[in-house]
Amino acid sequence: MKIGIFGGSFNPPHKGHLFIARKCAELLGLEKILIIPSNIAPHKSSGVFAQSEDRLNMCRLMFDSPLFEVSDIEIRRGSTSYTVDTLRELKEAYPGDELYFIVGSDMFGSFTKWYMWETILGLCTLCAAPREKGFRPDFSPYTPEQRKKIVFLDYEPLEISSTEIRMRIRSNSGLDGVMDERVAQYIRSHNLYDDGFDSYREIMSGMLDAARLYHCECVSEAAGELAQRYGADKEKAKLAGLLHDITKMMSAGEHLALIGKDLTDIERSNHKVWHQMSAPVFLKNKGIVTDEEILSAIRWHTTGRADMSLLEKIVYTADFISADRDYPDVDTVRRLAGISLEHAILYTSRYTVLDLTRRDRSVHPSTLDCYNSMIEFFNSRQAQTIKVDEVQND
Ligand code: FE
Ligand code: FE
Repeated sequence: MKIGIFGGSFNPPHKGHLFIARKCAELLGLEKILIIPSNIAPHKSSGVFAQSEDRLNMCRLMFDSPLFEVSDIEIRRGSTSYTVDTLRELKEAYPGDELYFIVGSDMFGSFTKWYMWETILGLCTLCAAPREKGFRPDFSPYTPEQRKKIVFLDYEPLEISSTEIRMRIRSNSGLDGVMDERVAQYIRSHNLYDDGFDSYREIMSGMLDAARLYHCECVSEAAGELAQRYGADKEKAKLAGLLHDITKMMSAGEHLALIGKDLTDIERSNHKVWHQMSAPVFLKNKGIVTDEEILSAIRWHTTGRADMSLLEKIVYTADFISADRDYPDVDTVRRLAGISLEHAILYTSRYTVLDLTRRDRSVHPSTLDCYNSMIEFFNSRQAQTIKVDEVQND
């Protein structure tokens, strides 16, 4: 019998997973597929990671057909889940059968770094399954013998990610087409992926539409990742990201009631900067946020300013690179943010200045200050700002 093995964190399982499993069964003629959620260390099981038991239950709901069997083999074993251990155990359980190990294209590239990968190839056929469009596997690291043990499944993938789904769940935006209704129901009734920010979301849901709420979730996620990377307070970054656009959909009258007396002439004619000014006033007046660091990160998220704090830089950058962004340069900015926040901010503030001046629009002094302070930053370190252009072209 041909048996497929499909492992992953399934946090949560979604229709993209189901699609891959079905495609593999169809293209390889698999008669059975074992769905194996990996073990995740218990200390991770909060907020972003659902408990093992819940992930198992969700998989049972999602993969509800005789073709599939959900296995707790890795969860029962505990500790880090090594594929080689799982395959050895399965080889014993299914001695006469052919095993096909399904690996998503996002993981295939690093396969030769896996623990005992050569042994893995001796135990099964490795199936590289596309998760994003245009995926072409690189077979160069493999010998001709090893190459025979790898199949590339050529099909048009469904591009869905678990991260995106967790954000959609939080912002209550459409799960149709990406999520099984029973899994969605399970997540809601067990209160999974709760990061403690629901009281803020309740306030926001009365002030913003679905698209804007989703954007805020994406910025929160991006800010949390940047905070982790650059050593800032992750909770503060996530909360500032979540709330940064809270007043975005207020009427002119509401904005002016909050900030009217503080507006300069340039600001008065530049509506785009109003929400970064009104949001901290609103949050503070209502007693929603009192933390000055968070308020300040929100205060400068649109224009930036000179000498930004780490948290200010993070929220400013997160707003440019969040998962919902799709402007032409976004991948460049994401890559720059991986090098340093300053690289990303120099690029984006320069872009903003160029864009505004090209269209004969006034540039907010803080935007110019932000750009200048980045130039100063790189000059003082004699760093190569030219790197910005190199990254764009590579
Ligand atoms: Fe904004
Ligand atoms: Fe924003």
